[in-house]
Amino acid sequence: VKHIIITGGAGFIGSHLCDRFLKEGYAVTAVDNFLTGRAENINHINDPNFSFWQLNVANPDLPLVELDFKLLREYGLHGVLHFACPASPVDFERFPREILEVDSIGTLAAIDIAKHHSARLILASTSEVYGDPQLHPQKENYWGNVNTIGPRACYDEAKRFAEAAVSSEQRWGGLNAGIVRIFNTYGPRMRLNDGRVVPNLCGQGLRGEAFTIHGDGFQTRSFCYVDDLVDGVFKLFESNVQIPVNIGNPQERSIRDFADWVNILTRGKGRDRSRVYHPPREDDPKQRCPDISRAKSLLGWEPKVGLEEGLSKTIAYFKKEMMTNVTH
Ligand code: UDP
Repeated sequence: VKHIIITGGAGFIGSHLCDRFLKEGYAVTAVDNFLTGRAENINHINDPNFSFWQLNVANPDLPLVELDFKLLREYGLHGVLHFACPASPVDFERFPREILEVDSIGTLAAIDIAKHHSARLILASTSEVYGDPQLHPQKENYWGNVNTIGPRACYDEAKRFAEAAVSSEQRWGGLNAGIVRIFNTYGPRMRLNDGRVVPNLCGQGLRGEAFTIHGDGFQTRSFCYVDDLVDGVFKLFESNVQIPVNIGNPQERSIRDFADWVNILTRGKGRDRSRVYHPPREDDPKQRCPDISRAKSLLGWEPKVGLEEGLSKTIAYFKKEMMTNVTH
């Protein structure tokens, strides 16, 4: 059995990765400190080849390489997926220090344990490395347009540091690694209160409230359903690709257009939700769309789930969350 460690394994994307790798026959050790991850995301897993450690990868009591992981003793280590990191713009204000730590010290720890076991590392990077892009759509060879001292800097620059750390170890340290640049991903297990546009607007739609739109709403994003993203990460892990790969859905739309979709899917027989316009977020990227030709040609990957289908599943999840847990 091949054993992998997933940092951020109780998070939104990390927990879906746990499910997928277990389904593919891997043994999985998930690591999370529950800063933004939640036990609810992994409580359903009942598999002898799954184990969970509550710890902060950036600040464990012992270095990651010295920890006595049960499944590691049994199976050794085949891979490390470094997905621990708060990722919502509202987290940038709440947890800047934690973000900087997990992407710097945490990434170095992930590299060390991967190298120690000659395991393949996958780094969860982000479209944010392109900043407010001047090239459209974004190709992997674009170097980006990032403000080093803006409100998004802690995340953008930390992920850029993480890419630099991984690529240096690839170049000079013999590390086997893939870098996935994730574009706006949504789906079940996002936190309703995480502040991003998908949970915010879905929650508002379900409660019958007005949609909050920042700026004029003509800024664009390209929304990828989590199952598609996870499939891309899985293919990247099993490949030998060593260069960064964009994984996202190139179906680009404005935030206004996105709000229209949420309106259609949440209003039921009720009235249309109105919109309230707030000032734009500082340094908010105006356009974002992945060029996925590299993922297509190197991994044979492309997204399959359209917005209507993915949003319907996500809204159904949020609905259940709201009914079972009033605090979210
Ligand atoms: N946004 C919005 N209303 C909200 C939350 C976000 O209009 O309630 C906008 C935000 O300004 C940005 C886009 O939606 O232009 C996507 O924001 P999100 O927080 O989801 O993530 P980002 O892609 O900026 O990292």
